[in-house]
Amino acid sequence: MNKNRIARWILLATGLVAIIALTGMNVYSLYTLRNTMVDTDKERKNTQLEEVSRKIRLSMYEPIRGLARINISEVESQFERTDQLPDIFNNVIQKASEVGFYSEIYFTPDDTSPCDGSTIYKYNRSTNTFETVQEYSNLVCDGVGLTRTQTRIALDDIEYRWNNNVQFDTHRSMNIALIDINFDRAIIGVLTFVIDQDYIVNEYIQPLLVDTFGDESDSGVAVWLHNWVQGEVLATNAPDIEYSSEIYDYIKVFPGFFNNWNLKIQYQTAEAGNIYNESLTKNLFVLAAAVSLLIGAMFFMFNTAQKERRLAMRQAGFLANVTHELKTPLAVMQAAGENIADGRVKDEKRLIKYGDHIFNEAIRLRKMIESLLDVAKADAGESFVQRVPSNLEDLALEFVSNNESYLEQKGFTVKTDIETDLPKILVDPHSVETVMSNLTENAIKYSPQTKEICYSVKSDGDHVLLMVSDKGIGIPKRSLKHIFDKFYRVEDSLTANTKGHGLGLSIVKNYLDLNDADIVVESSVGEGSTFIISFPILTESQIKAATEADAARSAQLESKNVGYVG
Ligand code: ADP
Repeated sequence: MNKNRIARWILLATGLVAIIALTGMNVYSLYTLRNTMVDTDKERKNTQLEEVSRKIRLSMYEPIRGLARINISEVESQFERTDQLPDIFNNVIQKASEVGFYSEIYFTPDDTSPCDGSTIYKYNRSTNTFETVQEYSNLVCDGVGLTRTQTRIALDDIEYRWNNNVQFDTHRSMNIALIDINFDRAIIGVLTFVIDQDYIVNEYIQPLLVDTFGDESDSGVAVWLHNWVQGEVLATNAPDIEYSSEIYDYIKVFPGFFNNWNLKIQYQTAEAGNIYNESLTKNLFVLAAAVSLLIGAMFFMFNTAQKERRLAMRQAGFLANVTHELKTPLAVMQAAGENIADGRVKDEKRLIKYGDHIFNEAIRLRKMIESLLDVAKADAGESFVQRVPSNLEDLALEFVSNNESYLEQKGFTVKTDIETDLPKILVDPHSVETVMSNLTENAIKYSPQTKEICYSVKSDGDHVLLMVSDKGIGIPKRSLKHIFDKFYRVEDSLTANTKGHGLGLSIVKNYLDLNDADIVVESSVGEGSTFIISFPILTESQIKAATEADAARSAQLESKNVGYVG
């Protein structure tokens, strides 16, 4: 391996390692980022849950906010005088009634008990006044009783300095004791707000959960409002997920009122997790593609390098071979010529013999130079074929009749199986001759024992086939795909001892490519080889076009001749 190649391999391997390392780092940092994002996301959702609970609580206490600023002594004195509560008070109640959390609002003055059917006051939203009623629900009695007791206990503390005291009768009512803080700290009456639980759950909390947490499939978080005493889910943003009392990530209980309710949150697949998974898939995909590409490139380089090495070796062998081959006939010609020129050879028979030598060696040289030129031309992509509509059977027969005696001299039995009246093909006759002569030379060279050669021509669908077969040494299977390569020779003892440069079949292939023909070989070692060439049949339109081109060419030649003669 030379230095360049080692450097190339090292560079490729470094590239591969770098890509894997980079993607690995990328995946790792994505993973860390994902965990941080998921944790932050969870914390954010917990805070959101706290906020939701706070918002509900604040909304429940909304009516009290206005009351804190009202002077209860004035409220009492106006009530004693007119049996009506002051407008400033009613306006606060009106605001509270608008929230929708409370279905009814009652006022029970201090000297009245709603438990024995006494007349108390009920708020009328349309007139913005309290009106007397005698019919009301039992829960007013419960609320007022509970509030009076709890407020008295609270007022025992000398430090108590607010003008109201709020008490929840669980989820049934919110009660506010109004305290005249300036005069004896007396309870002047109790306001009872009847809680509309259906409204709070369905019209307020349910939309609030969906607004805050979105749909579970998008936000990856499920939230439930759960009544743990009755074991029922009151509101949720994830109706499709089955509630389970044990599985939750964070819980928020409601203090004071609704103390049998809680808000639970459960993280499904977090959004950040999904993004991470997508990125991971993309990263791995890119990594796989890059690694496959690099491995492909490595294989390609390896293959090309191998091919180049083989070709270089073959070319070196060829050069040595060709130099030797060129020198041999030249040496023979030089020696023979020298002898004649010196006048040393006078005998007529010897003169003829020397002349023969020079003639034969010159022909050998010419053939060799022609082959080399053919290869060079084909390499340069030069088109040197002239295709004309032809009958393959005629061309084959002509070749056989020209070479039959030569083959017989070499000890060959010549067989033919040539069909007649075959469709025409578009081919360069010289190419057919070169191809057949190369295949024939090979049959001669590689048939040491059974010397038999057969030429067949037949039609096969839309092709005409030309086959040359022998009963020679055959070609090993592994060499079959290489024999048309330039300079390739099978490695066996007969080939090693036979003259040749591995160019014949490459020339054949080049000629056939130029004639749009294909060649395949069937061969088994020890039994012989058959080379099958297929030419496409000429279509009517091709015949017409070829004839026209031919006519044009002749006309051109004629006009040139005329010009030349003139
Ligand atoms: P060469 O000059 O070596 O004959 P070719 O290109 O004509 O070069 O052939 C390539 C190789 O294919 C030959 O070296 C020989 O090993 C093998 N080969 C070609 N034709 C035949 C055949 N008819 N029988 C057996 N082997 C053959």
